[in-house]
Parts: sequence; structure tokens; C-alpha cells
Amino acid sequence: MSFLRSKAIVLKAVDYGESDKIVTFYTQEFGKLTAIAKGAKRSKKRFVNKLEFFSLLDIMLVPSQRSSLSRLDNASLLNPFPPLRENYHRYTGAMLVCELVDQWTRENDRESALFQLFCWCLHDLARNPSLSPTIIYFQVKMFDILGLGLQLDHCLACGAMDPAASPYHFSPAHSGIICSPCARGHGLGLLPLSIPSIKIMRMAQSLPAERLNRLKISRRSLIESANILKLYCQFQLQHEIHSWKQFDLSK
Ligand SMILES: [Zn+2]
Repeated sequence: MSFLRSKAIVLKAVDYGESDKIVTFYTQEFGKLTAIAKGAKRSKKRFVNKLEFFSLLDIMLVPSQRSSLSRLDNASLLNPFPPLRENYHRYTGAMLVCELVDQWTRENDRESALFQLFCWCLHDLARNPSLSPTIIYFQVKMFDILGLGLQLDHCLACGAMDPAASPYHFSPAHSGIICSPCARGHGLGLLPLSIPSIKIMRMAQSLPAERLNRLKISRRSLIESANILKLYCQFQLQHEIHSWKQFDLSK
């Protein structure tokens, strides 16, 4: 019998039948995948307290010959991130990040850089006093990793980047910014985005994750960035990210 082994973060787990669970992971080695954990509802030994949202695990899987659903053979808990479970605000932040990863990735699309970013984000949400900047930076960098990077260097229509042409607007349909003159007659669906907000998101794109904490984001840029990211998700995915409703951006 061949086994697959990887570090993995639990994105979601649902009960299946009388005794099993279906668990979706984002793994370091294989990207997103779904596995059945046999007896996980009943057995208090094998998987107890392990198959919880955003737990970091070392998992062993047995691939199925007949379906895309692997069988979870074993799971060792590497980090349950206790601070994320003891504080409701931190919990909602971690749930939001799990939903974003789940919604923006496909099964078996390996992206180890996203796994590293996901781990950084959970560690940061567990220890930082302010969570909202981490959520913003995570999304900006996730889009870059997934090849959906937001175009924030220049106006998509005229190619210029001129502060005199502000306010700039974000177009979720075109994944980038449009200057004020070009935005006239462009139609609906644009959100204003100030130059400081554009600058901070560009800096987040270019900095490695471990240096993102050095960025100082204003309250206005935080709200603007969150709004365009929500709109971008809604437009591209054709539905809302539900966890945004629980997460309090003002904290
Ligand atoms: Zn323009």
C-alpha cells in the first residue's frame, strides 16, 4: 500500500455518515485535497482534537484507486494554534483565511509558497495585537502566488501613474487600477482607491511575509483595501466570502 505524507492545514471538516468525517486540507506537498477520516466521529483515539479548523498537522494518506477521495490514515498535531481558539476575534480571522484559501484554490494544484504564506498568516494572527493588516497582506500576496496579482503599478487604460490623476479606481473585472480621467465613461463597478492605499498594497506585494509587520497602514487604507478585496472576490468568484461577515475589521 502506498502512502502520501505531508504537512497540512485543515480547511474544513464535515461529518459523513454515522462515524466518518470528510476533511479538506491545504497541504505543503499536494495543494488542496479532500480525504475521508474513517471512524473520526466515534474513535476518540486516532483523530481526537486534530481535525479542527486551521490545525497544522503531519498527515499520512492512502490514495484511492477509484475516486479522488483519499483515506486519512494518520494525523499528528504539529500546532493547534491555541490563541486562535481562545479569542473570538482571532478565531474569525483564521476562519476567514481558511475560507479564502478554500475558495481560491483547486484540488491537487500544488503551491508550496501558498502553504508557507498560510502558515505565516496563522502564526501572525495568533500573536499580533492587530489582525486586519495581516488579513489584507495575506490576500494581496496570495493573489500574486496564484498568478492573479493585482495590477497596481499604473493605470490599466493609459499606462500612467500620476498622482495628479487621482483618485484612482479599482476595477474588479480587470484586476487593476484606472486613473480618474480614464475612469470617466468606464461605467459602473469601480471603487475609489487612494494613492497611499495603492502604495501600501504594492509594498505588501514586494516584501517577504516575515517583513510585512513593518508596514504601517492607516485606518483609511485598511478600509479601502478591505473593500476592494471583498469586491474582487465577489466579482471573480461570483459569490461572497461569508467569513467577512463575522470578522470585525475595526478591531
Ligand atoms: Zn489612465
